[in-house]
Amino acid sequence: MNAVKPDNIKWGELGFSYIKTDKRYIARWKDGKWDEGKLVSDNTITISEASTVFHYGQSSFEGLKAFKAKDGRVLLFRPDENAKRMNRSADRILMPQIPVDMFVNACKSVINANLDWVPPYGSGASLYLRPFLMGIGDNLGVRPAPEYIFSIFVSPVGPYFKGGLSPVNFIITDMDRAAPQGTGAAKVGGNYAGSLLPNKEAKKQGFADCIYLDPKTHTKIEEVGAANFFGITKDNKFITPISDSILPSITKYSLLYLAKEYLKMETEERDVLVDNIDEFAEAGACGTAAVISPIGGISYKDKLHTFYKNGKEVGPITRKLYDTLTGIQKGDMQGPEGWVFEV
Ligand SMILES: *Cc1c(COP(=O)(O)O)cnc(C)c1O
Repeated sequence: MNAVKPDNIKWGELGFSYIKTDKRYIARWKDGKWDEGKLVSDNTITISEASTVFHYGQSSFEGLKAFKAKDGRVLLFRPDENAKRMNRSADRILMPQIPVDMFVNACKSVINANLDWVPPYGSGASLYLRPFLMGIGDNLGVRPAPEYIFSIFVSPVGPYFKGGLSPVNFIITDMDRAAPQGTGAAKVGGNYAGSLLPNKEAKKQGFADCIYLDPKTHTKIEEVGAANFFGITKDNKFITPISDSILPSITKYSLLYLAKEYLKMETEERDVLVDNIDEFAEAGACGTAAVISPIGGISYKDKLHTFYKNGKEVGPITRKLYDTLTGIQKGDMQGPEGWVFEV
């Protein structure tokens, strides 16, 4: 039994873990169409033992956050982008499309059904939404499932890394999370089981997580654990790697836009050679869960390459990007048109 109630949560002390909230949304796809979807209380799902999600990893997930604004409104950050990405993931592993409106409306209805769980403004916490799509039904051979479930649950979360904006160190792994023409750009379940071991080994050596290089040549930085990489060069350019096996982070593309349009920086999506890592004055990992986690240093071939103030402090550009993005998400700052959805 999960006894946590909104009344006894210390919002400022929340970590990133599952808390059972009141309602979740669930829709089923069969014979070529979605049913109307509904909100349910039960947080368990009963499906056929022969479901493709169990055996062949036919599943995709998303992650996005809702924030309480100062005036009490609840704001959702770019849910249409998550809907579009889920549809690209679904395309890659032959699952049905979810109309963007259906996805966004499902997000809104599940938030409205759990309003007591939206952390207060200024607590640093937010309501995390976890949409997922999976193949279900009786099936044996390797083929797309006959039926699907699309569901969204929510959980209040604090910052992903407890230290907040304090830099953490990462280590380059020689394992890969994705193949060159594989599913790296899709947010599909199958990509993540393979990341558990390199993550564990990085942690065992005292690092926050590992950094993956490109799977073809192992010379270019791709991902920081389950987050994207960006660096700020010594001449103040915002750089982020480009590759077909990187998961296109909505946070990363938001930062790229803000760097260009709000901070008036030069921006570039290009190869980031690990041998040239010292070109950066600042570096960060970005994604919905962590927003930005400043990278203090990167360990590569037994040498720790550090960034701003020897990796001891967050750099000024990284902080500015963080403040701008979170300011927009909480409604303190005017964001670009269409970024913030009112629930
Ligand atoms: C989800 C994810 C990210 C971050 O994407 P956001 O849209 O910013 O949350 C980055 N890398 C991987 C591998 C991911 O799964």
